[in-house]
Amino acid sequence: MLTVEDIKNWKSLPPDLSGKRASVLGLARSGITAAKLLHAQGCNVLVSDAAENSSILEAAAQLRQVGMEVEVGGHSDQVIECDFIVRSPGVPDENAILRTARQQGLTVVSEIEVASWFCPAPIVGVTGSNGKTTTVEWLGDVYRRTGQKVAVCGNVGVSFSGMVQNLSPEDTVVLEISSFQLEDIIRFSPRVAIITNFSPDHLDRHKTYDTYIRAKCRIFENQAKTDSLIFNRGDAEVTRRCAAAPSRFISFGLDRPFNPGCGLDQNSLVLCDGQFDRQLLSKEELSLPGRHNLENAMAVACAAADLGVPDQIIAASLRQFPGVAHRLQKIIEANEVLWINDSKATNIASGLVALESYTRPIILLAGGRDKGSDFAAVAGQVAAKTKRIILFGEAGALIEKAWGKSIEVQRSATLKGAVELAARLAEPGDVVLLSPMCASFDEFNNYEQRGSVFAELVKAIAGRT
Ligand code: ADP
Repeated sequence: MLTVEDIKNWKSLPPDLSGKRASVLGLARSGITAAKLLHAQGCNVLVSDAAENSSILEAAAQLRQVGMEVEVGGHSDQVIECDFIVRSPGVPDENAILRTARQQGLTVVSEIEVASWFCPAPIVGVTGSNGKTTTVEWLGDVYRRTGQKVAVCGNVGVSFSGMVQNLSPEDTVVLEISSFQLEDIIRFSPRVAIITNFSPDHLDRHKTYDTYIRAKCRIFENQAKTDSLIFNRGDAEVTRRCAAAPSRFISFGLDRPFNPGCGLDQNSLVLCDGQFDRQLLSKEELSLPGRHNLENAMAVACAAADLGVPDQIIAASLRQFPGVAHRLQKIIEANEVLWINDSKATNIASGLVALESYTRPIILLAGGRDKGSDFAAVAGQVAAKTKRIILFGEAGALIEKAWGKSIEVQRSATLKGAVELAARLAEPGDVVLLSPMCASFDEFNNYEQRGSVFAELVKAIAGRT
């Protein structure tokens, strides 16, 4: 068995895992790539998934072909006959075999932990409740402008363990990290850690806000004094928790710049590291709208500057980065009505920043599957920023109960119905904003599908009128 102490005590990386037995729980993207990576390192790998559908069966066949054992449709006791377990982020704590494994003292690690054992390149790790994808993609854009090789991975399409074998020490990894991945780290440690902000999310999985935040803060627990922690000093909870970090603090915020860090001087975004303040650009020049994107831009600037990227390159990216799909994405302006797809706003905080990003009257489309959010707490704020609200999906009734007293809401069972209603109600000058504040799984496979369906509906319906 490979104990936590064994892993902590490895003198050098990568470790020699040949002949070790690893059980990988979960046959989705990160489980598959972690299994392949371990197999390539000479591990005997068993992959096990409780579900059995066409994509799982297809992946199982692929892995069997290269010599791995795979079981689907349930976990057998074979899973716990191993040296360590790799848990995919989708596998919940309540999973029976995972519980048994923990009771028996087996070591459980996440996919990013495994990948980090084999990663020769420095890692910039980005976590927080909102803004992770925008920040990692923006940093990727900065790096591409330098001509250096960058691997943007994690929760953004390509998994970390799928990338590590193609990397060299001169490259940089920019990694988006969820709280689920951080729950099971042992020695994972980014050269630069970024914490964007904290707000309640995923409380259906983490149970309490405190456990959720503590998981996120594990991003800095193994950092060295010479590593950097970049954090949002405008977020009191982030600032309080980061005080415990062992690494070098760099902060960003919408107030005056701190040394070292980033802030605003008059209207200019200013970087400060050492004695000098350097103006990067004026905030009106930023390519993305909203105060939250100003914060994201500052996090990007701090990280890039800390890693030695020249100011002109950082500023060029801050002026030109086109943004990421499904995040305040303009679909169409038809008959003077602006239609925005913010399908990735799957929690209340991201919905609120969307409402703050427009000065035009807003028709808000919200709903989907609830994640245990406290909608009543924001009823006043939402009412103050919206002209109309159209609720859709499973959570419609729940949100209506929370907001109905503050503002009149209308409801539709489906997103399609909500778009049709919005098209009838919208007047010239309005913004119709899909910023659902809920997960998409009641009606769609994921938020991307929800956003794409919205865009198609909008083009068909709004484009026609
Ligand atoms: P994440 O990867 O953390 O979910 P994204 O960049 O995908 O973050 O953005 C998710 C949602 O949050 C989008 O609706 C986006 O407009 C909003 N958002 C982006 N950056 C921030 C931020 N710094 N603070 C709050 N909300 C944000």
